[in-house]
Amino acid sequence: MATVEQQVSETQNGAPNGAAPDAGAIPVENPATGEIVATVPDLSAEQVAEMAARGRAAQPEWEAYGFDGRARVLLRAQKWLMDNAERVIATIVSETGKTFEDAEFAEIGYAGNAFGFWAKYGPEYLADERIKSSQVLVKGKKIISRYRPLGLIGVIGPWNYPLTNSFGDCIPALMAGNSVILKPSEITPLTSLLLADGLRECGLPENVLQIATGRGGTGAALVEHVDMIMFTGSTKTGRKVAEAAARRLIPASLELGGKDPMIVLSDADVERAANFATYYSMQNAGQTCISIERVYVEEPVYDEFVAKVSEKVRELRVGKPEGPGSVEVGAITFPPQLETIKDHVADAVQKGARVLTGGNVAPGAGRFFEPTVLVDVDHTMKCMTEETFGPTLPIMKVSDADEAVRLANDSPYGLGASVFSRDTARGEAIARRVEAGAANVNDAMINYTVLELPMGGAKASGLGSRHGAGGIRKYASQQAIVVTPKLAMKKELFMYPYKSRTSKLLAGLFKFMYGRGKRA
Ligand code: NDP
Repeated sequence: MATVEQQVSETQNGAPNGAAPDAGAIPVENPATGEIVATVPDLSAEQVAEMAARGRAAQPEWEAYGFDGRARVLLRAQKWLMDNAERVIATIVSETGKTFEDAEFAEIGYAGNAFGFWAKYGPEYLADERIKSSQVLVKGKKIISRYRPLGLIGVIGPWNYPLTNSFGDCIPALMAGNSVILKPSEITPLTSLLLADGLRECGLPENVLQIATGRGGTGAALVEHVDMIMFTGSTKTGRKVAEAAARRLIPASLELGGKDPMIVLSDADVERAANFATYYSMQNAGQTCISIERVYVEEPVYDEFVAKVSEKVRELRVGKPEGPGSVEVGAITFPPQLETIKDHVADAVQKGARVLTGGNVAPGAGRFFEPTVLVDVDHTMKCMTEETFGPTLPIMKVSDADEAVRLANDSPYGLGASVFSRDTARGEAIARRVEAGAANVNDAMINYTVLELPMGGAKASGLGSRHGAGGIRKYASQQAIVVTPKLAMKKELFMYPYKSRTSKLLAGLFKFMYGRGKRA
């Protein structure tokens, strides 16, 4: 296995995608150590335009591969990913500072599944559909609704899951027959570069997938050149991307911030609820869009739940990942995020919250925050209303389920939610009342792994969705095809010249068809 350093230098030898070597440089830091592990070019708007031209030129050949040809490349990539899993994990860990397990379960596990899923279901979701029409004048014609690739797709990704969230969206876009330019976060570009190398090895034609490393300006330039933009990141930047897309009249699919609530009802399995609250608030050091960011617990089980969660969180080991099993909670990937986490904890404490465990920056060379449990919290505090994106769990006591639902919905966000109750029918009824794109009963976040299900946010958490049929159809435009058989009449009844007799005939026909009040 190549070392991370070897891989990084291999990836960076020669600027990626033909970028000029003088394109400026962005240092990539390992957040767990503070070391600079690589530098990547900061591509200019002109370089993005050149990439777009190359991507457009490469697309027709890729489309001509057909579903079978494209699926073969994706299935080879699936095998490549498994063969190179340790190398990919090492790269992810080196640029995010996350634990081995957070990279293994939520990134390798996801992408391994996604390559196979889109290779298998892409053709089904994008298949031509033969339409039977009630329109009498098209009887005998062949009517088809089909999906055609949009052409050049832009994917802009965040830093929290460089494989799942950034690269993962390229897979269905490619399967649909598009060429793709991916702009990974400037903080975590290395995984995307490595995966692009991997896909080339698997037979993906040159320039069908290009990686545009760079800062926000590179992302903004990308929106100006593509036929559709898939964006994952903050609601603030998502709005800018949506505005730019609207100006160009191109579709935009946005997965944005979240503040996912968990509701624990008094009949819940408290031990299970406490385990899920601990895991899904601390996993990936809390830097997950769909997760558990705040908890509402019915009074009768509040004390028991808080005691269990505090005990479990206190036992978590935080620090530099040293391979499998070394720590549970890794680094804070994005430097400004640490300030947000500190600010939310300080704001809560200043307004009367108590810290039951954690609450501070963890010592060490890297960037870490102690796994933290907060109680006596309310909605005047940022930790309950703004996206913290860190290893913190504020828990609030509520008098009943109605209060929990009201507070869960008291948020501009609506990405995910979870409800814990032994009465699954009641749990489901509560889940249906939560304004969120996904709601799990006696579970959390698991819907994200079900690629057959749409995954998208309500309210300020996004527009459109990934996964499911819609997750690939959004990378295509629908085309209506109507084919008239060769033995058709020379002209249709309604054509020129207009004659009173045919007009009356048509009026009678319409009256017969639509005027009999059958449905009423
Ligand atoms: P941003 O939304 O600012 O960045 C996401 C991506 O968009 C990055 O690749 C970024 O590039 C790029 N970008 C920045 N400005 C523009 C622009 N004008 N046009 C097009 N693309 C642009 O998120 P951050 O990384 O700054 O994180 C900020 C907050 O967002 C976090 O604190 C967290 O709360 C939330 N977040 C949510 C995520 C989710 O999964 N929903 C994931 C990550 C963060 P660059 O990184 O180079 O600036």
